Amino acid sequence: MTECAYRCALCGHGKRLTAWALVLMHGPLGADGHLAENGYGEEIEVQEDSISCTKHPDAVIERMLDGAWCRWWSCPECDGRGWISGGSPYPDYPCPAEPRTSAWQPVAHKGWLPVAEALARAGGTS
Ligand SMILES: [Zn+2]
Ligand SMILES: [Zn+2]
Repeated sequence: MTECAYRCALCGHGKRLTAWALVLMHGPLGADGHLAENGYGEEIEVQEDSISCTKHPDAVIERMLDGAWCRWWSCPECDGRGWISGGSPYPDYPCPAEPRTSAWQPVAHKGWLPVAEALARAGGTS
């Protein structure tokens, strides 16, 4: 199970997942100013919000963190930003929802939470 970092909640595995990632390429520079083919690529960062299942495009994606499947959670009050728009002409103000932490990582207004905890915070709906 440890070889899977992400999975589709409906598939129960990650074999159908696709994602966008930032990649640094190195290789011969072509005449058009772009890298010629056969460059060497190094993945920099997978865009987590681009991960999706080819069979279930709308399914929840879960991530394995320290031996537990987690779901992405963002604060419903502020949409994970930590700030709430006061609406013109009032300034934005800090989200009043209490910042919380999990055993895995600090979770202020968004972050990966163990599945059970994420479901509990979402009010039991998925
Ligand atoms: Zn799936
Ligand atoms: Zn918040």
